[in-house]
Amino acid sequence: MKDRLSRDNTSIGWIGTGIMGFWMCRHIIEKGYSVTVYNRTKNKAIELLEKGAIWVDSPSLVAENSDIVFTVVGFPRDVREVYFGEKGIFSTLKKGSIAVDMTTNEPSLAVEIYDKARAMGCYAVDAPVSGGDIGAREARLTIMAGGDRASFDYLKPIFEVMGKNILYQGRAGSGQHTKMCNQITIAGTVIGVCESLIYGHNAGLDLQTMLDTIRGGAAACWALENYVPRILKGDYSPGFMVDHFIKDMGIALEEARRMNLFLPGLSLVQQLYIALKSLGHGGSGTHALVLALDKVSGSSFSKRKN
Ligand code: NAP
Repeated sequence: MKDRLSRDNTSIGWIGTGIMGFWMCRHIIEKGYSVTVYNRTKNKAIELLEKGAIWVDSPSLVAENSDIVFTVVGFPRDVREVYFGEKGIFSTLKKGSIAVDMTTNEPSLAVEIYDKARAMGCYAVDAPVSGGDIGAREARLTIMAGGDRASFDYLKPIFEVMGKNILYQGRAGSGQHTKMCNQITIAGTVIGVCESLIYGHNAGLDLQTMLDTIRGGAAACWALENYVPRILKGDYSPGFMVDHFIKDMGIALEEARRMNLFLPGLSLVQQLYIALKSLGHGGSGTHALVLALDKVSGSSFSKRKN
C-alpha cells in the first residue's frame, strides 16, 4: 500500500463494467485517476475508454498495471475466475497492492481471496454495495467493507467517489455478510411492494394516489420509491437482475444453513423468484415479480393502461 492515496501516484484497475461497474468506474475516471479496464464484453467499456481509461485484455494485465484493483462481476464463479484463473489477478498482483471485490459474493470466497492476498504480501477488501443502478449512477451507493481496518481507511477516499454511506464491518467476509442482511431485508420489502400493487389494482384504487399516500407512512422504503415508478411505467428492465437476486438469496440461505438458522421468509421469496425465472424473467429487474403474482392471481394488473 502506498503511504497516501492520490490521483497522481495511484493507478486504478477496474474489472467488470456492467450495470453497476460502468458507473462506479466512470466516477473514478472523472475524478482524474489513471484507470486500466477489462470486461468480458469489450463493448460495455467503450464509453469508459473514450473518457480516458486504458483497455487491456485480461485481469492479469489489469493487476500488472494497478496499485488498487476493483472487481464488480456477476456471480461467485466469475469472481473465482477473475482472481484465481490462469489469467487472473493473483497471477500478477504486485506486492503491496490492494484487491477490492465489490461483487455480491460468498463470504467464504471473500476470506479465500483475503488469505491469498496476504500470503502474497498484498491486501484484500470485500466491499459489496447497495443502492441499485440509480445509486451507482448518482454516486450514492452504500458500501459495506470487510478486511483490515487499515486497508479500509486507506480506501475510504476512493469509496467516497462512488458512495455516500460507507462503513467498516469487521474482518474479511463481514462486508459480504452485511450485504446478505441487506438482501434478506430487501426480500421482504420487494414482495410487500409487489403484493400491495396487485391488491390495490384489484381493489380498484388509483395506484399513484395509493403510492403517494403510503410512502409517507410506516410502509416507506427504498423498493417503494424506486421500483413502483418503473412498474407503473411498465419498465421491467434491470435495475437489479432476477438472476443476481436468486444468487444472493442462495448465498444467504447457504450461510443460514451453516448457522442452523430458520429463515422461512427468505426461502419463500427465493422460491418465488425461481418461478419468475422459469417464466423467462431471469434477465428482468427484480420488480418483475409483480408479473408472476399477477399471472398466478389471474389478475389484470399487467394489462392495465399505464
Ligand atoms: P452486470 O450488468 O451483469 O455486470 C457484471 C459485469 O461483469 C458484466 O459486464 C460482465 O461481462 C462482467 N463479467 C462477468 N464475468 C466476468 C469475467 N470472468 N471477466 C470479466 N468480466 C466479467 O451486473 P450488475 O448489475 O452490474 O451487478 C454486478 C454485481 O453487483 C453482481 O454481483 C450483483 O449482484 C451486484 N449488485 C447489483 C446491483 C444492481 O442493482 N444492479 C446492486 C447491488 C449489487 P459481460 O458484459 O460479458 O456480461
